[in-house]
Amino acid sequence: MVEITGIKFLVILFRLFHVANAQGICSCPSSPTTYTATFEKNLKSLLASIAANAASLPGFFYNTTEGNSPDQVYGLVQCHADVSADECRSCAAVATSQITGSCRTFKTAMCWQENCLLRYSSEHFFGVADVPRHSVQNDKGISNPSQFRSIVLSLISKLTGLAATNKSSLSYATDAVPYADNVTVYGLVQCTRDLSPAACRLCLNNSVNSILSCCIHKQGARVLSGSCVLRYEVYPFFGKFSKPTLLQPPAANGPISPGPLPHLPLDNPSGNSGRGFWRIMTILSTIGGGLLAACILLIVRARKHMEKVRYERETSLLEVNGQNYQHGTNYEVAMVRLRTVQAATDNFSELNKLGQGGFGPVYKGILPSGQEIAVKRLSQYSGQGIREFKNEVKLIGNLQHKNLVRLLGCCTEEEEVLLIYEYLPNKSLDTFLNDPQKRELLDWETRLNITMGIARGMVYLHHDSRLSIIHRDLKAANVLLDEQMNPKISDFGMARIFSGNQTQANTKIIVGTYGYMAPEYAMDGLFSTKSDVYSFGILLLEIISGQLNRKFNHAHQEARSLVGFAWSLWSRGMGLEFVDPLLRERSPTREILRCLHIGLLCVQEDAESRPTMSSVLLKLGGECLALPTPTIPAFSMRKIKDGSSKSQSSSLNGVTYTEVAPR
Ligand code: ATP
Repeated sequence: MVEITGIKFLVILFRLFHVANAQGICSCPSSPTTYTATFEKNLKSLLASIAANAASLPGFFYNTTEGNSPDQVYGLVQCHADVSADECRSCAAVATSQITGSCRTFKTAMCWQENCLLRYSSEHFFGVADVPRHSVQNDKGISNPSQFRSIVLSLISKLTGLAATNKSSLSYATDAVPYADNVTVYGLVQCTRDLSPAACRLCLNNSVNSILSCCIHKQGARVLSGSCVLRYEVYPFFGKFSKPTLLQPPAANGPISPGPLPHLPLDNPSGNSGRGFWRIMTILSTIGGGLLAACILLIVRARKHMEKVRYERETSLLEVNGQNYQHGTNYEVAMVRLRTVQAATDNFSELNKLGQGGFGPVYKGILPSGQEIAVKRLSQYSGQGIREFKNEVKLIGNLQHKNLVRLLGCCTEEEEVLLIYEYLPNKSLDTFLNDPQKRELLDWETRLNITMGIARGMVYLHHDSRLSIIHRDLKAANVLLDEQMNPKISDFGMARIFSGNQTQANTKIIVGTYGYMAPEYAMDGLFSTKSDVYSFGILLLEIISGQLNRKFNHAHQEARSLVGFAWSLWSRGMGLEFVDPLLRERSPTREILRCLHIGLLCVQEDAESRPTMSSVLLKLGGECLALPTPTIPAFSMRKIKDGSSKSQSSSLNGVTYTEVAPR
């Protein structure tokens, strides 16, 4: 109890502190960097130039750079399109002074004011979609969350469409839609003008994901990123509408009532009389609160330390379903308290649900440290779920590679069996391939980067880690994408370890996903690194064509499957027709056709003829390496052992006992 009260108090205190000391929010990296005197000089003249030129160009966007590497600094300011030139100038002036105060000695920083965004960095960032950095929400909830959610989402999606087009000269859009009697929802989106429409859309989509997980059930919220801003409220806050007040929000209307934002202080048009009083109150509460907070902090720290010692003792030997998992020795996966996960996911709230897999739902969560996590809740009482859990902990707990999703911890308390992963904001690759609008964001450079990343992750699994691991369920849904669209392979529940010089094993019951299974695995249960290569080949064909294998529509095509279609075109010298139409005009066709060639080599019927993953990686990266000519690949799915030949996207959850047979 003491702990919760203390933390709540600290949150309130920091809010007060924030209101009293800042007109906006600044974000600097977690640890300061030191910069040289030359960098400091460059930064000063960059900020002066930004303050002077903020409103000089149409659209109130100004970006510039000062100095030369390694002391070069890049910066931009973007005012909201609906403010006047004077408002823009004064916003930029406040932001430049605030950024130097709040982020002194940082080589990268960004600040958001009510009317503008200011950002600088020692790294070039122009044109790159940034990730959401802050969300600010109205504390008041709403009475009909599902109706409200769909209204807000359709409003934001409309605004995103308007802002992220070539036709939008401002990368800015606002609108208002009725929600209930006398209640209207107002929305605003804006990207910085250096972004392309695709990058603007990516930035706003990431912000929508943030809103979905933090605040869609609140009356208002804004998500702040270094390259876009998204906001909705149930009161007018932009352009031709009057501005909201901090202390006197408009009167309540119907089932919901608009309220002030807790973090970002807004202008108070009611004059100065109230300000002095509030300032004094704030200063007094800050000083008094500071002393109290220091005491509480000491108590909380002492309690936490004692709890940690006790917890470490408790969890040094973990029992999972009758099998011992030695903590910190064999499997380096932290045990996390159920109550921590419950708090992080708002008790597995539907609003935090990211998706549903074959073994249970996945939720987004935020730890008290601010770290975002994804929690896979394995179906209760599912024997297969428990098997997957043990497999995943055993395997991935020992692996670390930038192209493998990181398992941060697990939890087996009460009836719950949970896996806790790093959170990947762009979700899975199949969500991009499946959605024509999102697919537009995948230019060839991004697709090649994703392909190479997957290949690197697979090489690590097959050859480079201490263990030799067969994934057995590589597919677009198991490739997650981070905020920079770097791929991370996930889902190791079906993976198998090979020891020594073992190269192949067989299983009585096939697990995996139809459409990605190599013929020898689907027919005879034989799996090896080469069956993973087959799945990689299918994935590569999907990436090139922009079509998911399971959605391949053969009614209008001359082949029965994506692989067949690829072969029929490539073998007649018409490979370009296989390429996603979105790529054809602006991409290096030779490179794409080479990838198509490599994809066909990976899906050869004879496993021996398929290249290894290391050879695939070399071939993808080296234009000069000669490629053998593929023969007709295995492209028709035959009868599967369990009698079903239905196309499925979910993993088959057959019992996965495996007979390992070295050959
Ligand atoms: P199956 O389990 O049948 O193979 P799947 O791979 O889609 O299906 P899960 O791995 O359980 O199932 O994931 C379900 C969904 O949750 C994914 O499609 C993805 O959108 C989301 N998801 C999973 N892990 C994460 C993560 N670490 N970060 C963000 N989203 C995630």
